[in-house]
Amino acid sequence: MSALIGVSSRPRVVLPHCTPETIDGIERSVQRAYLPFMSVYLHEEDLPADALGSGPVAVDTETMGLQTFRDRLCLVQISDGRGDEHLVRFSPGSAYAAPNLRAVLGDPDRLKLYHFARFDIGIMQAYLGIMAAPLYCTRTASRLIRTYTDRHGLKDLVKELLNVDLSKQQQTSDWGAAELNDAQREYAASDVRYLHALKERLDERLEREGRAALAQACFEFLPTRALLDIAGWPEQDIFAHDG
Ligand code: MN
Repeated sequence: MSALIGVSSRPRVVLPHCTPETIDGIERSVQRAYLPFMSVYLHEEDLPADALGSGPVAVDTETMGLQTFRDRLCLVQISDGRGDEHLVRFSPGSAYAAPNLRAVLGDPDRLKLYHFARFDIGIMQAYLGIMAAPLYCTRTASRLIRTYTDRHGLKDLVKELLNVDLSKQQQTSDWGAAELNDAQREYAASDVRYLHALKERLDERLEREGRAALAQACFEFLPTRALLDIAGWPEQDIFAHDG
């Protein structure tokens, strides 16, 4: 648990307006020397080409609401699990070109970690035009092994598995605002901060209960489930006997 205690006790730094243009290399190296922990970076319209290290990336999205075509994609959060979180913001009327972000999300060799992948991959398919898979969904994994509870929210998982208290205060806020405030940035970043650690804990339990293969099959089906959502079957279980 030592690594987890480290994560939860590190000071957080939210840098205002920390686009690549406003933080030069010197400032960044000084910050890293004194605060060698993690930072939240806000980018407009795309991820810088060299923002991420190799390996799985945690991904989340923020939108204007839950209706895919009415409510636009405002923000994609992404982290390689090494401590930094990157927020990519899209303005109203964006063309959602984002070649660097799309390259990462569409990389077939790069695992994407989500909490409730179904929504995120659907909205990114609709706006960015790519299926951001292969994937791992911490909510799906939780539902397969934490059968003793019906609480599968990210906050519940992070509390039980990592003993970290996660604020959800900004969950409903105006993600289309011209300026994202510090609380919004911190909230958005925290939604991808713990997914790598959660995957480790969840994988241990999936193995223990003999459900790893079933979980993997679910993850492989999730892109199809998300495509059904946006193609007109958002509510129906097409495998159900009724209806
Ligand atoms: Mn979120």
